[in-house]
Amino acid sequence: MFCDSCMGLKLFNTLSRTVQEFVPCGAVGREVGLYCCGPTVYDFAHIGNWRTFLFGDLVRRYLEFRGFAVRHVMNITDVDDKLIRRVRETGAPLREITARYEAAFFEDLKTLNCRPPHLTPRATEHLAPIIALIERLMARGFAYRAPDGSVYFSIEKYRASGRRYGQLVNLKFDGLRVGERVRSDEYAKEAVGDFALWKGRVAEDGDVFWPSPWGEGRPGWHIECSAMSMALLGPSFELHLGGEDLMFPHHEDEIAQSEGAGAQTPGQPFVKYWLHGAHLLVEGKKMSKSLGNFFTLRDLLAKGFTGREIRHLLLSAHYRETFNFTLEGLQGARAALRRLDQCLGKLRELAGGLRLGPAPGPVERFTAALDDDLNVSGGWGAVFDWVSQLNRRIDEHALDASEAAMALAAWERLDTVLGMGTPIPSEAPLEVLALLDARQAARKARDFQRADALRLELQAQGWTIEDTPRGARLRRI
Ligand SMILES: [Zn+2]
Repeated sequence: MFCDSCMGLKLFNTLSRTVQEFVPCGAVGREVGLYCCGPTVYDFAHIGNWRTFLFGDLVRRYLEFRGFAVRHVMNITDVDDKLIRRVRETGAPLREITARYEAAFFEDLKTLNCRPPHLTPRATEHLAPIIALIERLMARGFAYRAPDGSVYFSIEKYRASGRRYGQLVNLKFDGLRVGERVRSDEYAKEAVGDFALWKGRVAEDGDVFWPSPWGEGRPGWHIECSAMSMALLGPSFELHLGGEDLMFPHHEDEIAQSEGAGAQTPGQPFVKYWLHGAHLLVEGKKMSKSLGNFFTLRDLLAKGFTGREIRHLLLSAHYRETFNFTLEGLQGARAALRRLDQCLGKLRELAGGLRLGPAPGPVERFTAALDDDLNVSGGWGAVFDWVSQLNRRIDEHALDASEAAMALAAWERLDTVLGMGTPIPSEAPLEVLALLDARQAARKARDFQRADALRLELQAQGWTIEDTPRGARLRRI
């Protein structure tokens, strides 16, 4: 379908700040380890987070499209500073909070048609490899126990060994005060200092602590990604990605911890390619609750948009471009998908069940765009130009059954990457959701007659109610 020797996938590697050809670590293999920093399950993920997770899904899907065997790992951060704060604020046990938001995350992942990662390890279930990694760093002289019972990574010792700290963000060390320590999981670049690997138990932690050789406490955020990625993908693997806000300190610390442990074959890095997705603006501004432009996926579904429309919009721009997300843009996504669906509907009619191999033209153009550092906007451009051409030929009655069948097969191939799926409405429109709300209110008021009438009304509109432990949900009949 395309010539492997004359074309190849190229990616912008944050480590080298250049676009490089993608070559797996193994000399001959097509196997690729892909690690994406996952959610901290203390709240619903917002659409800025979803842009990054969809970027991860695009990388995974495109590598598979290009014939690589991907092993996709995404961690679940189920203990960190934010979660401890949430436990303190709500009084709920840690596991209760994390279970709730973890379930919501996987539900949202499905709504957006992301391929589920092969492994989704939880930090609290990997204390053994985390502790082992810290012990190794202590044995190699890169970590030390502080008087507060915490264990810190010594940037001074690491640098003195000839290694570089600050490869991703080009740190300046003029202002660095040796031995200065930061305990918090997230900190500013100016605060560069020894970071916590293990945090000794303090009163605010309540009952969130585990035993360790250094006393009771909990792991820092950065060490979990080093320990779990190396445990599941090996000491050197191909791709590590996340949002650009994770470059520092999170990813920088991951490199220091993983390479400081020295498990790699000499000359091999911890990660060969680092990919970072750009920020998301909403209605031209940084998303914030006080500006009223803060959306979770659920907020947008409640406005009547579908996961498919949201996926299309979030995957319409190049991952390294700041993207301005707007509700108008979502309307545009709806219109674009309608145009695509109408064309596919006509092709199905014309093909009449005939199955043939994919037409090469659109697949080649799409591949050329995506090979160029995942230029998905170029890929969509190729798709919609092609749709216009097809429509013209359909209108002229110039497209026969075999061409229609080949066009459909080409779309199916492209859709393994784009993940638009079939346009069966699975999310209820607003008026249907309003009926569900009214029915729930009637049940609460013990007005069962009205609740029943509303259930029948929903049925008449093609929806059935399923009562689940997490509340009532609508399903298409
Ligand atoms: Zn991470």
